[in-house]
Order: sequence, then C-alpha cells, then structure tokens
Amino acid sequence: MKVIEDRVVAPGKAWARVLPTGQTLRIVDLEGRQAVDFLCYNAADPEERYNAADTMKYAKTIFLTAGHGLYSDMGRRLFTIVEDTCGRHDTIGGCCSAESNEFRYDVKDTPSCRANFLRALAAFGLGKKDIVANVNFFMNVPVATDGAMGIADGLSKPGDHVLLRAEMDVLAVISNCPQIHNPCNGFTPTPIRVVVSDPR
Ligand SMILES: [Zn+2]
Repeated sequence: MKVIEDRVVAPGKAWARVLPTGQTLRIVDLEGRQAVDFLCYNAADPEERYNAADTMKYAKTIFLTAGHGLYSDMGRRLFTIVEDTCGRHDTIGGCCSAESNEFRYDVKDTPSCRANFLRALAAFGLGKKDIVANVNFFMNVPVATDGAMGIADGLSKPGDHVLLRAEMDVLAVISNCPQIHNPCNGFTPTPIRVVVSDPR
C-alpha cells in the first residue's frame, strides 16, 4: 500500500483531489465530533455526481456505513465505504452556508462549507451548479419516528475513521466544517486527517 498523500486539514479548510479507480481515501476525525462535508464526482465527466436520494434508496437507510456505496445519478458507485469505526453519518442535512447561518442564527458573513466547496470546485472548473446534497461524515442527524430531525451532538470518538475506495476515477471534495452555531462540531471545529493510498 503506497501512500500518495497524507495531510491534516485544519478546521474550516477544504481539500480536493482526483483518485483513480482503486485508490482509497481515509478520513480520520482526529479529535472526534467533527463534521466532514463531502462531495464526489466522476472525474472524467463531472456532470455525473453523487446522488443522495439514490444512495439512500439503494442502501435502504439514511445512515450509511461499511459496505454501502456512494452512488452517482447514473446508478454507478463512485465510492464504497470499506471501513467505518463511527457508524453515524448524515445524508440529509446538507452543508452550511453563510445564507443559512444568517437565516437560522441571525449571524452575518460566517465561513461555511458551501463557500469551501465553491473554492475547491473552482480549481476543477466547477461552480454553484455543481453543488448537490452532500454526505456529512461524522455528523449526527437523528430522525424521530414522527419525522422530526435535527443536528445533534456527534457520536464520533477521537481517531474514528472512514475508509472509502474509489470505484471509478473520482473527484473527491471535502469541507472540514467551520460551523460554530450548532453541535455538529461540538461548537469547536477541529482538524481532520486525510490519507490517500494506492494498493497497487
Ligand atoms: Zn459546514
């Protein structure tokens, strides 16, 4: 297993990379309770991209874990979740934005995952039209039997990780969430580690 990249992503920062088929991406929640907003695309044709609704339908659950795929809108696996030591990730909450922070919390001009996504996507010639409903690793959004949902305290412990395997050449985009106005980061955003490896 050859390590291609091993990087700590500071809280509030973004990261993006193209992973050829078969490479793996390990995302480590170094201190626990840190939401990692995640988007992915077919690197060769980014109009094919992660589709939250289909991913949930195929998994038959909103809570993804090891064995589940992250599927594109063309019914194909972008990534497989190979390992998951946390067991709780969010598929329905989406990403934070300055606009939603102002609407929900009456605060202006906050840093956000949407702004991070836009900065990271720009390097690949992508923009606002390319942001779709995303996965939030290590974010806890429980849904009650009456349908009530909300962002709750994260369940990840320091060092929890997910390991993803690229099932095609994939563009992966991460925002290490800067949110301090709800519990998704324990009100204190912390660093994560990303490790890209090639098994060949
Ligand atoms: Zn965020």
